[in-house]
Amino acid sequence: MTTAVSRAPKYPDVLNLIGGRLVAGEGAYLDVEAPADASLLSRVPLSSAGALDQAVAAAAAAFPKWAETPLKERVQVFFRYRALLEKHMEELTRLVTEEHGKLPDEARAEVLKAMEVTEFACALPEIAAGEVLEVSRGIECRTDRHPIGVVASIAPFNFPVMIPNWTIPNALALGNCMVLKPSELVPLSAARIGALLAEAGLPPGVFNIVNGGQEVVEAICDHPGIAAISFVGSTRVAKLVYRRGTASLKRVLALGGAKNHLIVLPDADPAHSAVNIVASMSGCSGQRCMAASVLLAVTDTDHIIARLVEEARRLLPGSTLGPVISREAKARIERYIDEAEAAGAQVLLDGRAVSVPGREAGFYVGPTVIDRVRPDMRIAQEEVFGPVLAIVRTGTVDEALAIENASPYGNAASVFTESGGSARYVAERASSGMIGVNIGVPVPREPFSFGGWNESKFGVGDITGHGSIEFWTRAKKITSRWG
Ligand code: NAD
Repeated sequence: MTTAVSRAPKYPDVLNLIGGRLVAGEGAYLDVEAPADASLLSRVPLSSAGALDQAVAAAAAAFPKWAETPLKERVQVFFRYRALLEKHMEELTRLVTEEHGKLPDEARAEVLKAMEVTEFACALPEIAAGEVLEVSRGIECRTDRHPIGVVASIAPFNFPVMIPNWTIPNALALGNCMVLKPSELVPLSAARIGALLAEAGLPPGVFNIVNGGQEVVEAICDHPGIAAISFVGSTRVAKLVYRRGTASLKRVLALGGAKNHLIVLPDADPAHSAVNIVASMSGCSGQRCMAASVLLAVTDTDHIIARLVEEARRLLPGSTLGPVISREAKARIERYIDEAEAAGAQVLLDGRAVSVPGREAGFYVGPTVIDRVRPDMRIAQEEVFGPVLAIVRTGTVDEALAIENASPYGNAASVFTESGGSARYVAERASSGMIGVNIGVPVPREPFSFGGWNESKFGVGDITGHGSIEFWTRAKKITSRWG
């Protein structure tokens, strides 16, 4: 599909996991390249709807026994799985670093987050107990939570370990059986997750993996044997999956893309703000749905902007800044910068034409800060997904809020200020699901749920934490009277 430096893959072909067996793909394969140097890591099958049929059949066969296993027993698998994630932390870190390109510390952080969400699943017997009440004399109402059946989870490329684990432990501990469709760009970590779940004692068929792209996703949406779909990815595909999945009467939660605005006020702590803003725009090379994308600089903030440019300038592609996922992503990001510059924006720090010695073929974009961006420019409106910060100057907080509110997205927004009143004013009015106050990446930690607003999420509930319990179960209400 693409040209890589070395054509001898480092790892064997990725296999599907169906009913506890590793199965080779039957059709076309796609190269999996290392973003750091474009070397060939492996090949991933672009599976057909037929492979999905087999996985759904395996999951359906495993479902009755798994569903009737008591919750307290099911979570024992996840206590062991969490221990295995910890035991294999360095191996998973290396795998994520190789196939995604992020720095080892960033990769390790996502394995740690996978452990944290697994801990939430381990606590489900304490959290997800039903309700019981004597509603009138001698009559008792009880709510039980039941699994939905066979469910599907479709993942993006940017967190190869963490995002599959947003759904796996909770959905399975709550009694469902799953088919995971990993991103075809990063399938190796998912394969390892499948092996660790089996080692933890998960019965065959409870968790299955079907690799591929659009064809498998569309087949998931249409499959009559799948009761619910969790999707994480771009807004364009989230809309497709939400529309097509709900059209076939499935429960769908589809998390989409983002365009996160950071509002910085002149009274903000310059050092703290600069470090946090740069970490937000450059962490994982800007490939986070929580990444800072637009800085709304309110009135006299030149001193903070100067500081953050210095901070960003210190980032070294290849050592403190990883590559982006593909040569196509690099070209797309550079196009956004070119266009903004041509439209009159001022490039304060230019990450185009970066080359890392010894890894010249890698997909690197250096840290980029662009000032005097206008809200009508494409770079201010669309998701760039690279280490690029667009600065829009505004005269008032309300003007900044109007720009934030006008974005169709609504994943995250942050405010940097030393004033509690200003922070509260922004937090109440920003049109986003996750708000940061003096925090550049306001990811809620467990047990708080993760999920945005507007076109950053379609469907009800959130993907992790308490919100996910409702999504992965259905309530049965039992009303009894005994004489
Ligand atoms: P993507 O939408 O390209 O791919 C996501 C999944 O959809 C992949 O498994 C892919 O194989 C599949 N897919 C791609 N094109 C498809 C099509 N035309 N039809 C059916 N399926 C298709 O997203 P990505 O590039 O892998 O990930 C980055 C995006 O994910 C960014 O927009 C980012 O903001 C978003 N994201 C959002 C969150 C969140 O919590 N809201 C979290 C992580 C990433």
